Amino acid sequence: MSERLTNAVCVYCASSSSCDAEYHTVARRLGGLLARDGRTIIYGGSRIGSMGALADGALAAAGRVIGVLPRFLKDLEVSHDGLTELHVVEDMRARKHLMLSRSEAVVALPGGCGTFEELLEAMTLKRLGVYLGPIVIVNTRDYFAPLLTLLESAVRERFMDARHLAMWQVVPDPEDVVPALRAAPPWTAAARRFATL
Ligand code: AMP
Repeated sequence: MSERLTNAVCVYCASSSSCDAEYHTVARRLGGLLARDGRTIIYGGSRIGSMGALADGALAAAGRVIGVLPRFLKDLEVSHDGLTELHVVEDMRARKHLMLSRSEAVVALPGGCGTFEELLEAMTLKRLGVYLGPIVIVNTRDYFAPLLTLLESAVRERFMDARHLAMWQVVPDPEDVVPALRAAPPWTAAARRFATL
């Protein structure tokens, strides 16, 4: 596992099983939609929360799903046992690196600090011209509104450039994800020139 997989989408989403059931429904729908569009899903490898729903939705539509799980989480027996491939890595950093470096695109569903960390790392690497693919945020129940406001304030306060706002697209529903992936504006390593203000 080293180079990018054609049509692979990295999905970040919640481990929580206690959040509103709508989040799990949305994850399951997204899994099915990506699978039917012929895309391989790369995700956290778990069977719990939105992650489990995402994988189940894709597998039910005969999709390819690759899980990447750190050993200590596998030992906790949270891994999904029906995946196309499951890669067990040493730690969370190795997992995050593998998930993003194998993918051509990123989709974030609502989640907690793990999802925030993954999403913000993808944005940071895109700002630096290291990761160049689309980043689509599914804003179910307007969950991401405070984070989007914070990012706008980062631009207003000149910690980021207004051009950085084009690094991600926000959509309301999972049905909007595939069209948003197709329509995402191009991004090149030349972004490095305006990475720092
Ligand atoms: P969170 O949004 O805080 O629930 O974290 C979920 C994200 O972090 C997922 O996209 C995973 O890659 C990773 N993650 C955090 N906790 C777990 C877990 N228990 N099992 C698998 N992945 C997890």
